[in-house]
Amino acid sequence: MTKLRVAFTVDLEPDCPPYLDGFRGVEEGMPRLLALLANERVPATFFTTGDVAMRYPDVVTELVAGGHELGCHGMTHRAFTSLDADVAKHEIETSAAILRRFAGVDAFRAPYLRFPPAYIGMLCDAGFTLDSSQAKYKLAYYRDHRSARIRRIPASVTSSVLRLPRLIREAYLRQLESPIVLFVHPWEFVDLRHEHLRLDCRFRTGDVALDCVADVLAWFKRRGATFTCMRDLARTAATRTS
Ligand SMILES: [Zn+2]
Repeated sequence: MTKLRVAFTVDLEPDCPPYLDGFRGVEEGMPRLLALLANERVPATFFTTGDVAMRYPDVVTELVAGGHELGCHGMTHRAFTSLDADVAKHEIETSAAILRRFAGVDAFRAPYLRFPPAYIGMLCDAGFTLDSSQAKYKLAYYRDHRSARIRRIPASVTSSVLRLPRLIREAYLRQLESPIVLFVHPWEFVDLRHEHLRLDCRFRTGDVALDCVADVLAWFKRRGATFTCMRDLARTAATRTS
């Protein structure tokens, strides 16, 4: 039986884009999430927007000091599928330069897990070696992954699944194949239940969401999983590349 490897990743961004535009997740959710990860000794990869890094440099400094990996989540959290090539290149280069003031940054994840295959070369040119913009639960992964010039490690399951009631959630998690890439957002740990959001964005947010993540980490630990950041997963896991 192959060893179960799990990457816990966080998209560090404004609150629930494109519906809200605050930063309660960064201000209120992040301290709680970082404390949980430190308690559980789980290293994570934080795909951070350049905009958040400029507004909250102390938060980025803290996560790097906590032993976590810093990744790039674009500059402004606009969808790359809506950007012309020149603007996309500027987003990538600007965010990479800002984030690399804090730490080495090798991994990229596009907002909304949508990234045009034609722009992959821009990631390579900007020094990224790993892309996690795809998702195993999206059709584009099965269409595009072979054309990549970069190592691609897709997300395994969408973030709201981790907030489902335990029995349903565990039924999902049991289906996942190693290496498993989970992701969450700091705004999920703020109570957004009464905001005007899509149901999957707001249900069971706040304290419950943090408890769910604690349960998920414990569940994988009981199954003998090793938690790893994306950079280390890329080094050791059998992943798709070309
Ligand atoms: Zn995002």
